[in-house]
Amino acid sequence: MHPRLVDSLARTLATLLLFAASACAPDRQPPPRPPAAPLPSAQPSAPMDDVAPPQGRPANDAASEAEVGDAAAGTDATAEAPTATTPSAPQATSACNAQVPQEFLIRGNWFFNPKLAKNDQKKRADLHGEAVRYRTEHYGYFRGFGRPEWNAHSPSFYAVDTKFFGVTVKMHKSVVPALSCVEEEIRSQCSATPYTPKALGGIRFKNTYHTGEITNHAYGIAIDIDPVLNPCCGCVPPWNNAPQCRRPSKTPYDRMSLPECWVHAFTKYGFYWLGYDPMKDTMHFEFLGDPAKVVRP
Ligand SMILES: [Zn+2]
Repeated sequence: MHPRLVDSLARTLATLLLFAASACAPDRQPPPRPPAAPLPSAQPSAPMDDVAPPQGRPANDAASEAEVGDAAAGTDATAEAPTATTPSAPQATSACNAQVPQEFLIRGNWFFNPKLAKNDQKKRADLHGEAVRYRTEHYGYFRGFGRPEWNAHSPSFYAVDTKFFGVTVKMHKSVVPALSCVEEEIRSQCSATPYTPKALGGIRFKNTYHTGEITNHAYGIAIDIDPVLNPCCGCVPPWNNAPQCRRPSKTPYDRMSLPECWVHAFTKYGFYWLGYDPMKDTMHFEFLGDPAKVVRP
């Protein structure tokens, strides 16, 4: 055969083979894929703002915050884990919001405010009245303070039994979540200074102040921890006779058995410690934060 004819036939054959191959390609099934491996994103992932440190918290504390949340939400995280080989679940964060006590509710800001003249009784009364109104609206009407039209119920209407470190205490139901946040924080951050509360005091149905103001125990938003071990050095006898009140103290924390770490844990979640107050009431914490901001929605 003529060489040119051979070459032409060869080209034609090659073209036909290429055409046949391309025509068959759409009918070919792709090789079976292995089952898709579960991705880390299959876990419930927290939005970025969930892992950001709460307000007022130092950034270098963020890791410990995650540890707290992991312990609190561990059940959900493990229930979602699809296989043993899946990368570990992202750490959930605590639902607790850090917040500071609201200034206008701190008794020292009306009774002992150095900016107020000693004889400016009207101004003091106005500030106290503002705090009474807020507490009435949020926690109930206590006879003799504020007006019943501000709240149809007394604080006792809202009182519930709760537990703090396993000890039962009766509190206003709105501050129970804040107390839980404090316990979570203490368990996470205060293990270096262990302390176990044995006796707690919560809501009272009589006002125990004799100075024209009203105790936050009457609203169910104050808690006392072990009065014998943590005295009130500015109170009337016998409370101010405790040995801790008579020994020299460099800081307010020296007058009690409670670890200082506990004070910071309470403060972080909106409680005010009366150890800072002229009453030096070291057993006493009162919730002066906003009850609507205790946990993230
Ligand atoms: Zn108290």
